Amino acid sequence: LDKSKVVLRCEAATMAFGGNVAVREVSIDVRQGEIVGLVGPNGSGKTTLFNLISGIYRPKGGRIIVDGQDISGLRADEIACLGIGRTYQIPRPFNELTVRECIAIGRSFGRGAVPLREAMQSAEAFARFVGLGAQIETRADKLSLQQKKALELARALAGEPKLLLVDEVASGLSINEIRTFVEHIREIRDRYGITVIWVEHIFSALARVVDRLVVLDSGSVIADAPLQEAVKDERVLATYLGH
Ligand code: ADP
Repeated sequence: LDKSKVVLRCEAATMAFGGNVAVREVSIDVRQGEIVGLVGPNGSGKTTLFNLISGIYRPKGGRIIVDGQDISGLRADEIACLGIGRTYQIPRPFNELTVRECIAIGRSFGRGAVPLREAMQSAEAFARFVGLGAQIETRADKLSLQQKKALELARALAGEPKLLLVDEVASGLSINEIRTFVEHIREIRDRYGITVIWVEHIFSALARVVDRLVVLDSGSVIADAPLQEAVKDERVLATYLGH
């Protein structure tokens, strides 16, 4: 793990919908092995920034650079193959598929793409990692909310990302379930060296694990600092207390 290596650089990344600037000249560097919390009120641009990084949108201005390569013009599937993985806010596993099949599909879309038969076999390790070893042949729609979120994480991990974008997992989970999820995030960094950016409303979840907070407000970065510093910043507090 090279902690000085910049995995992701956003250079004045900008995105607008009509006249509405959702992401305004956002510049951030994320280094290898970092766990970064991305926070801000509703509508502050968090999802749009994730969509820019993962290639759902193409920036209107600025650049997104992964491992030194400008990915701003690439398609979402090309970006996934470069090692950018993502979990989604609303768990949307394919309901009629089993845990094994969902994870295998995740594998076939990412950097570690292999033939489906092999992906089906290797799915088990990812399922075990998130605590779904016993549910490997269970249909996704039979899982609890917490298990669906775990499956979504396993599906994303199966693509062997080097950078994982995690979107809102804590809501609806109990304190203990959140704790378990936080441990998974810590472990994917510690064991596999995966860099993580985590958007999360439930601050106590982030506070357990992030190295750094990036705070967005109206599309702009208003703070980018180690957790301990960021939580003392008045603008950061105001952003939280104001919403
Ligand atoms: P957050 O994830 O922080 O809640 P979003 O990135 O979803 O914020 O939204 C940022 C701004 O961009 C909001 O004003 C939102 O209405 C707008 N926006 C997001 N996506 C779209 C879209 N597809 N079309 C039009 N406006 C959008």
